[in-house]
Amino acid sequence: MICQNDNHLTQLVNKAKTLTKNGKVADYIPALAEANKADLSIAIYSVEGACLKAGEVQTTFTLQSISKVLSLALVLMDHGQEYVFNRVGMEPTGDPFNSIAKLETIKPSKPLNPMINAGALAVTNMIKGKTKDEKIERLLAFIQTLTNNSSVSVCERVARSEFNHAWLNRSMCYFLKEHGIIEGDVEALMEVYTKQCAIEMNCYDLAKIGAVLALNGVHPDTKEQVIPERIARLCKTFMVTCGMYNASGEFAIKVGIPAKSGVAGGILAIVPNKYGIGVYGPALDERGNSIAGCKLLEMISEEHSLSIF
Ligand code: GLN
Repeated sequence: MICQNDNHLTQLVNKAKTLTKNGKVADYIPALAEANKADLSIAIYSVEGACLKAGEVQTTFTLQSISKVLSLALVLMDHGQEYVFNRVGMEPTGDPFNSIAKLETIKPSKPLNPMINAGALAVTNMIKGKTKDEKIERLLAFIQTLTNNSSVSVCERVARSEFNHAWLNRSMCYFLKEHGIIEGDVEALMEVYTKQCAIEMNCYDLAKIGAVLALNGVHPDTKEQVIPERIARLCKTFMVTCGMYNASGEFAIKVGIPAKSGVAGGILAIVPNKYGIGVYGPALDERGNSIAGCKLLEMISEEHSLSIF
């Protein structure tokens, strides 16, 4: 790993860490309940290839909802905007990430955006591939390209744990199937979705994905355009409006950069044209975002005036 330890960043991590005691690790996916609540780590990858870190950057975690940005990029590359946005909307919601409520009140029924579970399930259903294995392999290969790390893989234990408990997500799938938003076998979709959410990496890998998006799809290591510019911009826009679920407004005010969180405690954040940031802190606030991770990003953003607004 080519990340340098940074003393000042370590001080900020230690300060933010005091908040972890006020959070709670996710336990509705049983395997996630085993996380160490006091963990907090960060990697900041500059588009020139330098990297700063603080905390136990080697600790791995599953992407969970962070994967929704990457599956969205892939299906936009697979099908184009018109096809995708016929099946999923572009509007933020003030509801929790796993809410089913708006599916029935919006006519015609369509998930509001790709960052909530209903929208993400519709997106995963659009990943091209003849079989469920081919779909998850294509997504994993794409993520390995973004991280430039072929050892990134699916944590089968977490995937299975979620698969065995995902009743709410299953019910959303059946609702979406009834309304023609998704097609095919719901159990197969649940397998691809839970494996997608269980893709595992550390903060350094996550920061590198952020650096690709910071450069509008150009990989900082290989200089290859691995995501078309228009799609990279679109993903970042969704991250600003919907990335932190029903805390996206507050995060935009306090931190002001595109970000996406996951219930395992990860946050992918981007400072356009400058940095990709990966954070891991499994103690969550009541809206499902890393409590200390958000504070840490707020402190860094304030100190370096990183807000894009
Ligand atoms: N796999 C999780 C779920 O579908 C992802 C949710 C999240 O990270 N907020 O519930």
